[in-house]
Amino acid sequence: MDDNTTHFGFQTVAEEEKRKKVAQVFSSVARKYDIMNDLMSLGLHRLWKAFTVQVSGVREGDRVLDVAGGTADLSLAFARRVGESGQVWLTDINHAMLAVGRDRVLDRGFALPVAQCDAEKLPFADDWFDCVTVAFGLRNMTHKDRALSEMRRVLKPGGRLLVLEFSKVWKPLEPAYDLYSFKLLPWLGKKVANDADSYRYLAESIRMHPGQEELKTMMEQAGLGKVDYFNLTAGIVALHRGYKF
Ligand code: SAM
Repeated sequence: MDDNTTHFGFQTVAEEEKRKKVAQVFSSVARKYDIMNDLMSLGLHRLWKAFTVQVSGVREGDRVLDVAGGTADLSLAFARRVGESGQVWLTDINHAMLAVGRDRVLDRGFALPVAQCDAEKLPFADDWFDCVTVAFGLRNMTHKDRALSEMRRVLKPGGRLLVLEFSKVWKPLEPAYDLYSFKLLPWLGKKVANDADSYRYLAESIRMHPGQEELKTMMEQAGLGKVDYFNLTAGIVALHRGYKF
């Protein structure tokens, strides 16, 4: 892979093409995103997100940035935690996902600031947030190292970054997980969202994403300290946590 190429699932593509393809995927799935999440994970994504909020240590009055926040699951959970004196920003690069998220936020009676922005160039001041989260977003980013550095930059000293992402599953489960990912997922995507390709990309992008230890190293290289992680559901998902010192 030369300097200007990257992965889009199993394909090697130009960086600009990856951005466009990722945008197409999320513009295509936005309206069916929530129902597909529940179906694909049998509701488990709710537990993984609840765990993330629990581990975050976020308290009333804190400032939280939800990067790649999409349809706002985490933003809403954090909004309930920080209360009126806190602040939660819902951000995402994709307009369609953000529009669904913004509507859900309003429907649930919250008025959160919303910004369409690229995680690789965050439009926020240094040292501003107590907590930055990115759930199932990092995998889709072209320069994960830049995004991690940006997320660190906007954290206050003592603040923490939480990365919730698919990871490397426990080895004995791999055959069953492969069957599920490469056969059942695209089939479900076709039936429910009329879009098998986007869900094939999902399965491929999960396989291409760094595993637990590799992501931990990437976070350390981005300048985060005391990095640790929790394996959830046999490593199907991992929650990484790192601090800015
Ligand atoms: N965080 C939400 C959740 O957990 O349900 C949405 C996750 S969704 C799988 C991934 C999101 O990452 C999409 O909404 C997509 O637009 C966003 N995304 C991809 N690349 C991005 C980037 N460079 N900057 C910000 N968001 C990005």
